[in-house]
Amino acid sequence: MNYRKSSIRQSIPKELRYTRQQFDREFPTDDSCLEQIKEQRFPDGMAVCEKCEGPRKHYRVTGRTAYACATCGNHIYPLAGTIFEKSTTSLRVWFQAMYLMGSTRCGISAKQIQRETGVTYKTAWRMFRQIRSLLSEPDMQLEGSTVEVDEMYHGGRRKNGRGRPMRGDKQKTPVIGVVERKGGRVIARTAEDVSMKTLQGFVKEYVLPKSTVFTDEFASYNGLDRIDGKEYEHKRINHESKVYVMGDVHTNTIEGFWSLVKRGIGGVYHSVSQKYLQSYLDEYSFRYNRRASGNLIFPAMLAKASEKVSLKPSAPIAENQTV
Ligand SMILES: [Zn+2]
Repeated sequence: MNYRKSSIRQSIPKELRYTRQQFDREFPTDDSCLEQIKEQRFPDGMAVCEKCEGPRKHYRVTGRTAYACATCGNHIYPLAGTIFEKSTTSLRVWFQAMYLMGSTRCGISAKQIQRETGVTYKTAWRMFRQIRSLLSEPDMQLEGSTVEVDEMYHGGRRKNGRGRPMRGDKQKTPVIGVVERKGGRVIARTAEDVSMKTLQGFVKEYVLPKSTVFTDEFASYNGLDRIDGKEYEHKRINHESKVYVMGDVHTNTIEGFWSLVKRGIGGVYHSVSQKYLQSYLDEYSFRYNRRASGNLIFPAMLAKASEKVSLKPSAPIAENQTV
């Protein structure tokens, strides 16, 4: 199926869009991008100076990625520890890549970034991998008390409608997901298998006890009503008997997310290896979880760039690096 013709909306709702004009206006140059990261990490240039030991205002050092302490001149580097630190690619190209990644529902390919920015395919691919690494939200907790849990299978050839692997089908990677009915946030994780134990462990970890959990009839969901003393209200639908929707008993919400992921991976990325599957799921979840919240996706990605700073002390950026 040609995903472009699919009924899934490709674009982000208008009110949540951060437009290209806004982007170009706010980030016309590498300097403006650096200033943004500096403001995120050291608002108004204020940071504790290691040398003269106090909160000090810092000013941009022309031609460098550094800001200097107003009192003693010691340098701080807003890019240190970020995904941009060691890169020779211009900061604005990074911002453009993030902008583009945040402005579609289905994702954007390295080829498209290559066309937009002129970087090589390899560079584009590496940038995407780094940006995706910012988008995992391992500590996310769902708050909804009504959720749908379902699995999908990635890779290999589909052998039946539901895509569940047949015996001996080792090529498929299972992905387990849960979505809140209200609020609509999703968590999706690759899994070793879809045994009862794995599925129960997933529900126990991500779903609040006493929640109502909708699943289909798959046997591995047996026993979800009580997991290690935690109780859930488990409701199931029977796909086999073609009963897809019975009142509120359905898993259409999570299936909608799976179809977005499948169409995106199939249509935009063409193929995704098992090794990187989780990071793609993180990308889709990141956008999906913000699609209705008024949380603009590109600014949220930018915020992650300064939140997720590597803790290991890193050598300052070479003095001759320019932005
Ligand atoms: Zn100082």
